[in-house]
Amino acid sequence: MNPSSASSYERVLVTGGAGFLGSHLCDRLIAQGCDVLCVDNFYTGSKHNVHQLLRSPNFELIRHDVTFPLYVEVDKIFNLACPASPIHYQRDPVQTTKTSVHGAINMLGLAKRTHARILQASTSEVYGDPEIHPQPEEYWGRVNTIGVRACYDEGKRCAETLFFDYWRQYRLDIKVMRIFNTYGPRMHPNDGRVVSNFIVQALRGRPITLYGDGQQTRSFCYVDDLIDGMLQLMDSPPEFTGPVNIGNPGEFTIRELAEMVLRLTNSKSTIEFKPLPQDDPRQRRPDITAAKTNLGWTPKISLEDGLRETIAYFRATLEL
Ligand code: NAD
Ligand code: UDP
Ligand code: UDP
Repeated sequence: MNPSSASSYERVLVTGGAGFLGSHLCDRLIAQGCDVLCVDNFYTGSKHNVHQLLRSPNFELIRHDVTFPLYVEVDKIFNLACPASPIHYQRDPVQTTKTSVHGAINMLGLAKRTHARILQASTSEVYGDPEIHPQPEEYWGRVNTIGVRACYDEGKRCAETLFFDYWRQYRLDIKVMRIFNTYGPRMHPNDGRVVSNFIVQALRGRPITLYGDGQQTRSFCYVDDLIDGMLQLMDSPPEFTGPVNIGNPGEFTIRELAEMVLRLTNSKSTIEFKPLPQDDPRQRRPDITAAKTNLGWTPKISLEDGLRETIAYFRATLEL
């Protein structure tokens, strides 16, 4: 290969690249001129999410499960492979833990061999059902080790441990990003997450399923803001490893979200109360001081504007 052509672009691996966040990240990386290798086993993602990229000569798609070794040559790795919604990660909980833990080991081994910089998509779930509010990165969290969410939460916590041990032991160039609830176009309509559930129910005129009393809170970040934060973190100085919270600090009760979705869709759907799932966190809001200070990142898109975009996407894609 001509050495000058190798230095003119970066070879970037995105695991979980055919998923919701991964496909938006691939779009942005291709637009920046990177050479993108998208790896996915299509457990929750689909080729459809990246079909717009398949004709680009800079884009390659490989069906592969990250719990198995992967030998490729890359400069940067975004490790996003893992089902993210409770119904999907609880369907095969052993595979969920394997994906986070074995997947992290394989991708860290790959980063070690190729000297690639590697970013882990971690989660606000590492804080569990938090007693500190809002959650700063220094908070160690409160996770039920043996509950139904543990396969995801503890898998992601162990992945963070592995990242920091590879950093300490082998001086790997790592970045750990704690992602708070993110929404937007290409969310899977049946993955059970609250924003997609409510929008799909409202557009179909079906009852809005509100779990518990609806007073639990979440903070919702629009996908474009989130991808900005992810790219800025990847390009931050090597000494900044994170972990860093990336999310929108605007906090809403789930009831408020239901009412906003009903208003923005002009829906006549009723609200139906259902039991609260086990270990459902009562409140969640990121402290984003570290992201502001170290990356100069803040989210720009309000919940109302982001919901309008997401509703327009579901209106255009759902068979109503
Ligand atoms: P998603 O389910 O749409 O995407 C995950 C992708 O990983 C899918 O394409 C899936 O097929 C793939 N995958 C799963 N197991 C795999 C395996 N063993 N090998 C290869 N590919 C595999 O979810 P998302 O919302 O895009 O989440 C992406 C990442 O961000 C996940 O790691 C998730 O934990 C993290 N995250 C997301 C949110 C959010 O609100 N969306 C919040 C916190 C963290
Ligand atoms: N690995 C991989 N691709 C590579 C290099 C390593 O998938 O290019 C996997 C391999 O399966 C290995 C794991 O990463 O088991 C961890 O690698 P590391 O070098 O840290 O450990 P070791 O090879 O000594 O087990
Ligand atoms: N939720 C709800 N109705 C739904 C789906 C979810 O009331 O149809 C609630 C859920 O109990 C939780 C919040 O919305 O309190 C966010 O759920 P989601 O699964 O989207 O994310 P997570 O709990 O992982 O933050």
